[in-house]
Amino acid sequence: MKQLYIETYGCQMNFADSEIVASVLSATHSLCEKAQDADVIILNTCSIRENAEQKVLKRLEELHALQKKGKSRRIGLIGCMASRYKTQWMESRLVDFVAGPDAYRFLPEMLTDAEAPQVRTELSLDETYLGITPLRYQSNGISAFVPIMRGCNNFCTYCVVPYTRGRERSRNPESVLQEIRDLAEKGYKEITLLGQNVNSYRWENAYDFPRLMADAAGMDPKLRIRFTTSHPKDLSDGLLEVMAAYPNICKNIHLPAQSGSTEVLRRMNRKYTRESYLERVESIRRHLPDATISTDLISGFCGETEEDHRQTLSLMETARFDYAFMFKYSERSGTYAAKHLADDIPDEVKTARLEEVIALQRQLSYESHRKDIGKTFEILVEGPSKRSDAHLFGRNSQNKVIVFPKEDCQAGTYVHVKVIDCTTATLLGEKVQNNA
Ligand code: SF4
Repeated sequence: MKQLYIETYGCQMNFADSEIVASVLSATHSLCEKAQDADVIILNTCSIRENAEQKVLKRLEELHALQKKGKSRRIGLIGCMASRYKTQWMESRLVDFVAGPDAYRFLPEMLTDAEAPQVRTELSLDETYLGITPLRYQSNGISAFVPIMRGCNNFCTYCVVPYTRGRERSRNPESVLQEIRDLAEKGYKEITLLGQNVNSYRWENAYDFPRLMADAAGMDPKLRIRFTTSHPKDLSDGLLEVMAAYPNICKNIHLPAQSGSTEVLRRMNRKYTRESYLERVESIRRHLPDATISTDLISGFCGETEEDHRQTLSLMETARFDYAFMFKYSERSGTYAAKHLADDIPDEVKTARLEEVIALQRQLSYESHRKDIGKTFEILVEGPSKRSDAHLFGRNSQNKVIVFPKEDCQAGTYVHVKVIDCTTATLLGEKVQNNA
């Protein structure tokens, strides 16, 4: 058996895809933990921001140096950068083969047949990797990702995903539910359903995402179900009703706002307004009073005025996000924004606005955590705390991390923990009796 080393960058979808790649190559390659031990090195890459690509390029140069020194190795580029750059890194001899997100079934042939094409970046209208059981080599045996769809049809003007991952297609619900059933039988306790826009999941017109959630949650009341990501234009009350009906559907919704200004949202082609976004937030609060809401925010998008930025800050205060992923706008070649909108906000202005957004979110996260002091949550224990061997950490249904003294608790079990203190990022607690 040849040795295979996979390094994954970017989103949860890429981590799930790396497990598909490990599975399609498992007949001929076994996984190893260090690049220097490998016969084949694969980088599964992300193009969402400029610095994500720079990181990969730097790593490719390091690996190229390793390749020149030691035993002969093949280096492959897969994921979004493969779709974007196709043959470019082959020409500079940094990589030996390239496979886009819909071409992983070709990898065995690319690695064993010298005559096979070494660049496969065509996108498919129907590839969902049906029939491939992911090799869960990155897993803690407790939580697993299950992709339910691939691609995206939304064409937000700043985003490369529709170009690198192709059109939206949903997986057959039978295969999704079977995968969840198998994971539950293996002892997994938490499943996250993945898609770029899970709300538009649909199978043969009649079977939609709320139904898939209900069927997944109905399988086993002790199996937690999460999902990501929701698009605000498609988050339905029907889904919120299903979330309210099943205690094991986790009460956290990631609802990327991107901006609080309707004008900026229009230029981003997000297809919702500030008002309709806030109406969705109100609906979440009405249906799921104990849910947390997380978001993504971009500072300094093309043409963003000081007033637009103020509107983002005021949206944050109104929505009271529990946590957020916040970035400066980074122009990506090939997108509508790169072709038609001027990236006209100076970098120092982007940075200053981002800092304001981060400072406000820090305060909102802290306030959200302070409100939990004195409450008791059921948490799924994930493992030792990063800071202390004497403590464990787990997550509550709201996806907040709680650290507590280890005592006799085990990873993969549910325990009840009372929150006694907090930081901006973490709740600190103590175990209470399970009937508390
Ligand atoms: S919804 Fe928009 S931001 Fe998200 S993947 Fe699709 S195009 Fe990109």
